[in-house]
Amino acid sequence: MPLNPPFVGMYVCGPTVYDDVHLGNCRTFISFDLIYRYLNHAGYKVRYVRNITDAGHLEGDRDEGSDKFAKKAKLEQLEPMEIVQKYTLGFHEVMRLFNTRPPSIEPTATGHISEQIEMTKKIIESGLGYESNGTVYFNVEKYSTKNNYGALSNRKQEELLEGTRELGGQDEKKGRLDFALWIKAKPEHIMRWPSPWGWGFPGWHIECSAMSAKYLGTTFDIHGGGMDLIATHHTNEIAQSQACNHCEPVKYWMHTNMLTANGVRMSKSAGNGFLPMELFTGRHTLLTRGYSPMTVRFFMLQTHYRSTLDFSNEALQASEKGFVRLMNAIKTLEILKPSDKSTSDIKSLELKCYEAMNDDFNSPILIANLFEGVRIVNSVNDGKETISKSDLEVLKKIFHEFVFAVMGLQQEQNATNNDELTKNLMNLIIEIRNEAKAKKDFSTSDKIRDELTKSKISIKDTKYGTTWEKEK
Ligand code: AMP
Ligand code: ZN
Repeated sequence: MPLNPPFVGMYVCGPTVYDDVHLGNCRTFISFDLIYRYLNHAGYKVRYVRNITDAGHLEGDRDEGSDKFAKKAKLEQLEPMEIVQKYTLGFHEVMRLFNTRPPSIEPTATGHISEQIEMTKKIIESGLGYESNGTVYFNVEKYSTKNNYGALSNRKQEELLEGTRELGGQDEKKGRLDFALWIKAKPEHIMRWPSPWGWGFPGWHIECSAMSAKYLGTTFDIHGGGMDLIATHHTNEIAQSQACNHCEPVKYWMHTNMLTANGVRMSKSAGNGFLPMELFTGRHTLLTRGYSPMTVRFFMLQTHYRSTLDFSNEALQASEKGFVRLMNAIKTLEILKPSDKSTSDIKSLELKCYEAMNDDFNSPILIANLFEGVRIVNSVNDGKETISKSDLEVLKKIFHEFVFAVMGLQQEQNATNNDELTKNLMNLIIEIRNEAKAKKDFSTSDKIRDELTKSKISIKDTKYGTTWEKEK
């Protein structure tokens, strides 16, 4: 039950835009897109806030290592804000391809520096923050005298300490679990702002506390993100918000489980991060071919968001078949002829779909029910079963609402096996165009592009190769 029905406030930790988002990140955002869509469908007025981390994220989650943006900017010889812009645009493009609905507000860390400074000041005033040589830390030990710091991860202080290093004489921190609220900028650091503690930049955790409180209030309904954020990022968010606002910030914490490849968590640092474009085009050594965005979205929704999901060619191929079957049934539904009576209980099917989603957004159970619907559609079409006129309308409603509005799937021109010929022809045309371009025969390459545009097919050159899309 929301704090203030019919309104729901939902905050989800967004991407750190120093690199392309990988499929693991996409799983989390697609899961929350399902949740956002279903809450809207159920009649709630949702304010969905998903931030963009565009400053302050160091390589280690506990303030160690170099700044991710500064490092990438050096590598690509760009301004840090050019890095931010480049990967924000890339992220939005991927979210569009997966048909995720944009959040209501997408705040950036750099756009909320003053809010983060104000919050840091309040934490110092409450006695739980301290400055050390221009950097401000949160005092976890002092906080723990009155609060359970490890509550969210259900871990004892000693267990949390295991993941940290011993402090030496050089350290500015008082305790091993202390984390930075504000970080002093080294002379070479470009992204810096003035503060009461000198020039610096905010720590990673404070942005989410400051921006969620600003847009959703000091206590709000849902806070989400991947499970990897529980032990440090979200634990620190709770501590900061408690210290500043003296109340529990979040009613329901929701965490998505990890997308893995061969059982190993997909991440940039592990080097097993598939990029969405590599998956769509099939240009990756571990892929036998490409899969469409809707096949991938369907593949992800076939597993509950709290279970791990392992990525494999076989699983994707099975999902592609399932997705095509589902879409074909929706087409067949339009030509079904009603009879006097129904041989199946369509109303109870609708109820089961709602029950599945009301049970912690259980999309795999929803999909199993929809496939019962597919079976009915095909049986009626084959003359083995019958359906009444009113039940046919209910069945159409079930498919349209759950498949399109709630699961966010779309009919695709180029997703189905039936379109194999189109895919092959398009690959051939693209190859001829690329060869022409390589030979600097621009009249041919331009002609191909123009003719395709006339047929409402747009082609796009990306760093992973050329992709194409038919306008809907
Ligand atoms: P980042 O850009 O690393 O801050 O991550 C953005 C979001 O993706 C966060 O909510 C992470 O928890 C989530 N995430 C990162 N890796 C994975 C993964 N392998 N599977 C699912 N979610 C992930
Ligand atoms: Zn966050």
